[in-house]
Amino acid sequence: MEIVGRLCQTPIQKHRPIPAFLRNALQIAALLVLIPFVHTSPLRAAETKIWEQLSGEKAFAHVQRLVDFGPRPAGSKALEKSREYIEDQLRRSGWQVTRQAFSDDTPRGKIQFVNLIAQFSGQRKAASPSFLLCSHYDTKMFDAIRFVGANDGGSSTGLLLEFARVIGQDPNLAKKIELVFFDGEEAYEQFSQTDGLYGSRYFARQLESGGGAKQFHGGLLFDMVGDRSLGITLPADSPADMTRDIFAAAEALKLRNHFTYLDRELIDDHVPLNAIDIPTVDIIDFDYPWWHTAGDTIDKISAASLQIVGSVALYYLSEFALK
Ligand SMILES: [Zn+2]
Repeated sequence: MEIVGRLCQTPIQKHRPIPAFLRNALQIAALLVLIPFVHTSPLRAAETKIWEQLSGEKAFAHVQRLVDFGPRPAGSKALEKSREYIEDQLRRSGWQVTRQAFSDDTPRGKIQFVNLIAQFSGQRKAASPSFLLCSHYDTKMFDAIRFVGANDGGSSTGLLLEFARVIGQDPNLAKKIELVFFDGEEAYEQFSQTDGLYGSRYFARQLESGGGAKQFHGGLLFDMVGDRSLGITLPADSPADMTRDIFAAAEALKLRNHFTYLDRELIDDHVPLNAIDIPTVDIIDFDYPWWHTAGDTIDKISAASLQIVGSVALYYLSEFALK
């Protein structure tokens, strides 16, 4: 996008008659200086493009901090430390955080889960968000390997924290957004009606029973968005009008080559949201060789990939979804 400034006319000044010799000199000077001179009035600083404010490096630093806490399965001390870190970062960026705590039966018995929900608090009146940005922040529990989920659980959470910083600088946009960090995305055994998606299932149930689902007209879920070799694969059943705009956003930023469709559907935290009629796209790079292996470590992800996903998402939000 180019910002075109208005051409201003140079004001005509009243002046005393100019002596002949000086007039001649001025005419010669005028002949020499025939380059059209555009009087540039002090243009307002170029309009801030929010997607250019996003820092992949800052998002990456958050991922590093999360990974440093170690494996972070639901109910663990390391996950509580992650929560405190996330809450602290959100508050620094002007967001108000609520803990949505609940317990659920799992194949490992009753487990305590905590979703984190953030709304922008810089408004005088209460925020009334209409769009969800989500990530899960737990990591899958493994008994035999040390799984730190740099990409799976880490990357999207770090990116959401960077969204909080950038979007927090634009209160008009921030008040329309709710950030949700889901606990218990990972299944203990297999995804089923009762295993996996603990946090998003609970969040959706609460939203629906409280009559709050209608307030949201859409959502983006981020999951595994940091792979050095980035190839976002939007699930085949994603809401078509949203994917069209996401592809258009990627195109506008000349990043379209990183985005394609997955040839199948995926079970992820977007499913319970779509089930309560909040159209939500899962922005995920499912082609990740270290998925659910001990190799999902910080060296597999890059600030550049986080930058790509983050800037396309912000372009999509500001130019399409929330324009
Ligand atoms: Zn996973």
